[in-house]
Formats: sequence, C-alpha cells, structure tokens
Amino acid sequence: MKKMKTTKTLIATSVLFLMLTVISSCNRVPITGRKQVSLLPESELTAMSLVEYNNFLNANQVVNSGTNSAMVTRVGEKIARSVEDVLRNSGNADLLEHFDWEFHLVESPEPNAWCMPGGKVVVYTGILPYTKDEDGLAVVMGHEVAHAVARHGNERMSQQLLASTGFAALDIAMANKPEQTRELILLAAGVGVSTGALLPFSRLQESEADRLGLIFMTIAGYDPEAAVAFWQRMSVNGSGLPEFLSTHPSHETRITDIENEYIPEARTYANTSN
Ligand SMILES: [Zn+2]
Repeated sequence: MKKMKTTKTLIATSVLFLMLTVISSCNRVPITGRKQVSLLPESELTAMSLVEYNNFLNANQVVNSGTNSAMVTRVGEKIARSVEDVLRNSGNADLLEHFDWEFHLVESPEPNAWCMPGGKVVVYTGILPYTKDEDGLAVVMGHEVAHAVARHGNERMSQQLLASTGFAALDIAMANKPEQTRELILLAAGVGVSTGALLPFSRLQESEADRLGLIFMTIAGYDPEAAVAFWQRMSVNGSGLPEFLSTHPSHETRITDIENEYIPEARTYANTSN
C-alpha cells in the first residue's frame, strides 16, 4: 500500500516537473503572439540543422549562375532585411542572433522550397513554373522564411519528441536514435526526405506562415496580390510535396484568408514601415 502511494507521488512529481518544463519552454510567435512549445535550445537546433543543410547541398545540384539563381538571392536578401526590420520594431531583435542567411536554388523537379532554423533557404527549380515571376517567388520565400522566424520546426520537433519519447532533450534523442532524429530535423523543416514519413506543418502553422510571409514580402517591396495567383496555380497541382500539400489548409480557405485578412494587414505594415 505504501509502495503504491510512493509510486503515485513519484508519478505526480514527474508529471508536475514535465508540465513546469513545458510551461517554462513556451515562446510567443512574433506578431501573432501565439504561445508555442519549444523544448529544444534554438542554438542546438540551428547547429544541427546546419549539418543537414550542408549535407543536402553536397548531395544535390546547386544552381550557382543565371537569372533564376540571381533572383533567388535577390528576393531572399530583400526578405531577410524585412524580417530584421519587423523583428527589431516589434521587440524581437533577440531572435535574430540565430540567423545567418543563405539562399540557394537547387536543381530538382519537385515543387518545393524550405527554410531551416538559422535561415538556410533552398528553392527547388521545380517550383519556378508555379511562382512564375519575382513577386511569386517572394510569396514562397516569404512563407518559408516565416516558418523559420516563427520557429515552427522547433515546435514540430518538440511536439514529436513529446509524443514519441514522453520527454527527451535533442541530444538524448540524438544519442538513442541518431538516424530518426536527423530525419526529424529534415522533416520539421519541410524537406521531403523519405517516403511514408510525413511531418507537415499544421494548418495553424501554415496560416501563420502565410500571414507573416505576406508582411515580409510586402515590406520588401513585392506585390502581395501575387499570393492569390500562386496558390491558385498550386491548387491545380494536386500532388504537392508535404510543404505544399493541396489540402493543408484547403486552398479555398487559404486564398480567402489571404485576400480578406493577410493582404490588407501586410499593406498596413508596409505603409507604417516606409
Ligand atoms: Zn508552409
């Protein structure tokens, strides 16, 4: 009887400790103010992402010359400046310390793009037919950068680690299951690496990336209306990759939100920042 009581107390203490850890590991997303769980130290996640990013670049064909490659760099740099302005003006300048921006175009038929924690952005040539022009590319890059600024990768990984191991620090997970943890980093960033394993951003995160991405691109001087045409073109492509899944959120909802809420908000930001 006494043993049972001790076990119960132990469990209660562990649960309390876990709850306190989770509560103390809550951040707020810049601009939207949404509370999120992020259990992993951003510096550790950034360092590990950098390894995966370099592996990816070594294993794929990077396009280093030509107008498209130059366009990816130009759009990326403009969006990065917008992010820095927005974060400084909103009292979130501390988030910038983890960012060391890089922008690359990579040869691949997949209509995909992603931004790893730390600001390493890759655009696949396969998405260029959908982005069409520089404004369209700014929609995609603004959206991807927004996922990183809002620490969605950290949030997804924290949720995944909580679900799979109860609670584990990244280094413990790495020591126990290095392959799965490496894959988790890639999946959390939106890199489609393996068949069957999907870790798409949640609907909430997608909407948040749409909203923040439009603010970043509009401040950078691009036309936010391009987002409507881009998502219409993507909706015709039924078989998107995880990051651009046609049902996530539904294209109709997404386009309505973009037109009615996010574009007007982005214009307000752009007007006050100029
Ligand atoms: Zn997304």
